[in-house]
This record gives sequence, C-alpha cells and structure tokens, in this order.
Amino acid sequence: MSLPGITGSPAEPMSTNLTRLFAPLRRGKSLFGLLHYKPMPLATMLDHNLVHVRDLSLAEYGIFLLSGGLYFALLLRLHAVGSYRFRIRGSTARPAQMGRELFNSTRAFVIYNALQIVMRIAALAAGYILTFDVKLPLWEEALTFPLVILVHDAYFYWTHWVMHWPPLFRLFHWEHHRSRQPTVLTAHSFAVGESLVHGAFPILYAIFFPCTFATLIFFYVVMIVHDVAIHSGVELFPPLLVTDRHFGWWCGTTHHDIHHAIGRTNYALYFRFWDRLMKTEHPQFERVYAYVRSPENDGQAYRLLSRNERTMRPPSTGSAPIGSRLSDAAAGAALEPMA
Ligand SMILES: [Zn+2]
Ligand SMILES: [Zn+2]
Repeated sequence: MSLPGITGSPAEPMSTNLTRLFAPLRRGKSLFGLLHYKPMPLATMLDHNLVHVRDLSLAEYGIFLLSGGLYFALLLRLHAVGSYRFRIRGSTARPAQMGRELFNSTRAFVIYNALQIVMRIAALAAGYILTFDVKLPLWEEALTFPLVILVHDAYFYWTHWVMHWPPLFRLFHWEHHRSRQPTVLTAHSFAVGESLVHGAFPILYAIFFPCTFATLIFFYVVMIVHDVAIHSGVELFPPLLVTDRHFGWWCGTTHHDIHHAIGRTNYALYFRFWDRLMKTEHPQFERVYAYVRSPENDGQAYRLLSRNERTMRPPSTGSAPIGSRLSDAAAGAALEPMA
C-alpha cells in the first residue's frame, strides 16, 4: 500500500526517518499495536467498527453483571447464615447506595465505548484505523497477556494517585469514594471524568503496545472480574498470592477495601509493587488481611486500625498534599451512610 507522507518519496524530506519509525507498523507488527495506516471513508469505518464496539460493550457489561452477581450471591449467603468467614465487614451497604452505583457503572460502560468511537474517529482524521487484523508469533502474543496487566497496573496506580490530589479529587474521584463501604457495583461507579480516564487505557495500550484481539479480551475479563472482586467485601485471594514472603504481590480485596475506608493509602489495583515502592501501603494491611482470613473473624477487622483512622473520611476538596494525613475537619465529604 502507498503511504503518503511516510513512504520515502524524495519529495518528502521527513520521509526517511518516518519510514524507519513506522516500519514495524507497515509490517503489521507490534510497535504501534493495532493502529494501522488505512484511510477510508468515515461511514465505512463506523459501519465496520460500530459492530465491534457494540459487541464488546455488551460482553464487558455482561461480564461485570455476571461476576458481580456471583460475588454478591456469596456475600448474601454468608450474611444469611450469620457467617463472617472471608467477610471484611460485618455490615452490608444500603440499597440506595447500590442503586446509585448501578447508574454510575452503566454510564461508565457507555462512556468507555463512546470514547472508543470518538478516538477512532480522531485517528481516522489522520488516516489511521484500529484494526484487529494483526498476527503475532504465539510466544509474542502470550507475552502480551502479562504485559497489558503490568502496564495497566502502572497506569491505574499513577492516575489514581493523581486523582487523589485535592484540586482534582472532587471533580474526578469523589463519586467513587462516596461508597465508603464498597459493593460489587462500586467497581465501576465513577464520575464522568474518571470514566474517561479509565476508558482511555485500552485504546492507548492498543496504539502503543504489542496487542491482538485476544490481548484485549484477556484484559477486559481480568480487569472487570478483578475490579468486582476487590470491591466485593469478600476476601477470597489466598495468602500465597497476597502476603507470602516470596509470592505475595497480589493486592487482594482487603487491600482496596482499606483504601475505601481511609482513602489515603493502598492506591494499587493488581499488585502491591507500586504501593510498597512509593511507601503508600497501609502499615496494618497484612494484619487486617490475616484477621479477615482467620477463624476468629467476627466482621470487625477494622478494629485493628487506629481509632482516628476508623472515623476518618477520604479527602474532598481539602488542601492537604497527596498521601498526607487528613484530619476529619479537613476532609468531611458527604459519604453514604452504612447499614
Ligand atoms: Zn474502589
Ligand atoms: Zn481512591
């Protein structure tokens, strides 16, 4: 295919460098993921891509509701029989909170996919389409599975950390933290701004990193199910993955639940790596986790946190720097009451 502007024509002085830069792209290889130069009419692109976006969005929402339903059914069952086994808290959230979260989550999935269409139109304006016609060697494709999770882990930690900066917190992240006692529906209960931040990730990844259709499907399944799990209030992740001296790098549910309870530690999504490196992990995390998993668990694991922390609210629009201790007076977001 002739690639105007990047083909090495003598009439185009920038062409040599650009040809080298875009060479992997022209081979359909990995450097620029799924982004390919292929000018086409907008109607043709939409005709082709709207079907993909529709099917993917339905699949994403279906995985969210299915995994959320399973976790919620387990929580209700444990509650019904009076068992605190694996439960982080003894109480359950109110229906009004879950109604708000369902609305926010549904809107978030619509925004994720609307953003996909907008970004595809923007790329087409420069002559590019995102296409799934990419074939990678099997070993290379297999490596994209851990890679997309590692890249997303870093993206989530740092965007999350920045969204806790008080000037941005109210606009982007406060809505998510209204659920101080998270439920499976809290997983995607975001304000519009935060939905855009999260929705941009798979598109940015597909543009800049090695990626196939299977990579994206893997990402969506892992991300959605993990997000549901860490908001479920039920700690099913085993100590081998969470607190083991050698293999304990997975965050688990308690890790993120503490983030909702306190709001200024435990910013990570999948792995404890970034929080440990940046010293933002709660010092009592492993004790709380061990208590939740122990036979003595009575649904009061947060007694292990200091009294000050138990009454603390996540920041709203205060002026304290990221990661600093916030007094109750400096915080004071209007949080959903707990049952
Ligand atoms: Zn959360
Ligand atoms: Zn947060």
